[in-house]
Amino acid sequence: MPAAPIWEQRWHPLREEWVIVAAHRQSRPWLGETVRDAKDDAPEYAGDCYLCPGNERVSGATNPPYTGVFVFDNDHPCVGPLAPDAFEMPPRPYAARRADGIARVISYTPRHDLTVARMSIPEISSIVDSWRRETRDLGARAEVKQVLIFENKGDVVGVSNPHPHGQIYATNFTWKTFDTELDAQRRYARENARGLFGDVIDAERRDGRRVLFEDEHAIAFVPYFARYAYEVYVAPTRQVPHVSSLSDAESESLARALKSVTVRYDNLWRQSFPYVMPLHQAPSDGGNYDDFHFYIGFLPPLRRPNTLKYLAGPEIGGGNFLSDTSPEEKGAELRAQPVIHYRETSA
Ligand SMILES: [Zn+2]
Repeated sequence: MPAAPIWEQRWHPLREEWVIVAAHRQSRPWLGETVRDAKDDAPEYAGDCYLCPGNERVSGATNPPYTGVFVFDNDHPCVGPLAPDAFEMPPRPYAARRADGIARVISYTPRHDLTVARMSIPEISSIVDSWRRETRDLGARAEVKQVLIFENKGDVVGVSNPHPHGQIYATNFTWKTFDTELDAQRRYARENARGLFGDVIDAERRDGRRVLFEDEHAIAFVPYFARYAYEVYVAPTRQVPHVSSLSDAESESLARALKSVTVRYDNLWRQSFPYVMPLHQAPSDGGNYDDFHFYIGFLPPLRRPNTLKYLAGPEIGGGNFLSDTSPEEKGAELRAQPVIHYRETSA
């Protein structure tokens, strides 16, 4: 028997906003645009790739013959130490300030074609280790207020180079999403003497329908208040403000959770699944952020094979997400996927 359609608002406790879930609309015919199938045929090495070992980058630097994770300063930084010090101050009520920081690229692997979903647990663990190291080192610098780490994956989120990589922006300012989440978590801790994210984890465990992975130290789930159809949170079960606070055992659990989620994603439509994946971390300005629970968000832009979720009137205009899919149904779809990657099986 099909589940009853969902037509309600759901509270997003971290963003402190309502998500409108109108899942009764999802069977309406789609006459809009689709995107091309993601190509799964990247070579192991590409001579024109700025991330492959031994290749020259636009800055003139040559990549070393690296064998694991390779981190370097971004040749096209959005924020950087070269941002001008002096600029014209605008009239009130406008304001301007320096866009300072350090931008780096993390090449996950020397292999041009090896995405996270197809990596071993030790290979994914070394990516997590690079996040820990960079967060600790960059966060210790006086000019850095926050370390934003993220991966954009796939043509549909504007990444033309398939070589698996992430980015780091260590900035002299904090980012609005994490400011909002910090405020929400601080208020919740004050009012309830408990952690907000810990209570989200407990609620997901009790319900169980949206949980994709859990072991001793980490959990992955489609949140009850998902804004994107296949949105997934991956988190350590212990509340720590930064990825750098994780133990080795917790990092390895996180790597297992990341593997489980990315394999399910790829298996869903048997294609390399695109997403935006930010690490939600507290500021790194020396303050006390014990109320903040570090986690990783997967925000996939596709709602069906080759069909983008467009942000339009409700999202861009109104500022709240309207989702026409049910998080329970999407959780069930992902839970039903095998945990062996489709390209690793002979079928
Ligand atoms: Zn490459």
